Amino acid sequence: MTGSQRRPGPVLGALCLAALLSGAGGAQAERQGPRRPLTRQALVNLVRLGWLADEDLSREIAGRRLDFAVTPEVERDLRASGATDSVLEAAKSVRAAGPGGSAPDGAVPLSKDEVIALLKSGQTADAVEAQISARGAAFMVSRQTSDEILAAGGSRSLLGTASVTRKGAAVFDDLLDAAVAAANANSTTHAEQLLEQAAKIRPENAAVHSLLGHSRFHFGADPALAAEDIAAAIRLGGWVSYRMRHVHSLSEKCTGVLFVSLSGIAYRADRGNHSFELRRPALIEAHALSGKSWFSMADGQAPPIIASWLHIKLKSPKGGEKEMDFTLLGGLRGPSWYEAVANTINAKGE
Ligand SMILES: [Zn+2]
Repeated sequence: MTGSQRRPGPVLGALCLAALLSGAGGAQAERQGPRRPLTRQALVNLVRLGWLADEDLSREIAGRRLDFAVTPEVERDLRASGATDSVLEAAKSVRAAGPGGSAPDGAVPLSKDEVIALLKSGQTADAVEAQISARGAAFMVSRQTSDEILAAGGSRSLLGTASVTRKGAAVFDDLLDAAVAAANANSTTHAEQLLEQAAKIRPENAAVHSLLGHSRFHFGADPALAAEDIAAAIRLGGWVSYRMRHVHSLSEKCTGVLFVSLSGIAYRADRGNHSFELRRPALIEAHALSGKSWFSMADGQAPPIIASWLHIKLKSPKGGEKEMDFTLLGGLRGPSWYEAVANTINAKGE
């Protein structure tokens, strides 16, 4: 899904940078250079947001690597933020980035911590600046970063070189991490602007479309845009997610996130034991239903109202069978949206 037919957004200035860096095809993606490793905070933010399925999150972790070691303390931190076993496994198994990583020296842009370590090891600011010129900088030169590097013995000239040697992939990662931080702070409009720019740099990245699709579906005003990104994420082999209420009975409900991809379906309950994951070729069938129902009512309220909901039928090859009902939480909730979700689940999207 290209952005060529979208109307211009309110972020034209920033988009010019994205336009310079974006382009069609894989050659462009290669020229963007390596992805920037995830910081601890960026990974915690991604996990806490909870919009990405484990598989997409693990793919991001493997593609970017981490600029920190997964110590028991980090593991506790990630788990407290909602990380599942499989995501923790992905984080633990990925080789740490930087000098100890798998890439040959010189191929990986220098991280902020590496620059500070080099300066503290006694190298001159000029020598470190020469290395930044050769390898590029893997960090954004913010006020805080500048202060830290200057305190370690860096120079203004070094900071200038670092800020002009940013690589396309690193800009993409900056935008992605900033967007996830913004979404965590409920600034979804800002998050969407950042994600739009990121999607233009790396239109082949499923995660960015998945995040955009989720945000636009639940917080956006333009249903067509949400549908574009949801379709793009699915087409790229990614998962999309919807905030849902799982309706057990009139009085019993739980909330969570429903994840859908061409390969299967999963529900992660905020708490409680209704989480599940089912992979095709299991029967996964969804129907959008509408009628007089108590599904959309707040707890303990008034008589049934006309509502829409999603009815999902699951049948594992081993014989297990399950039928579940869900209502969307927040955002677009009309009957057509339940149909769109059902089509995505039934793999009848675009
Ligand atoms: Zn439930």
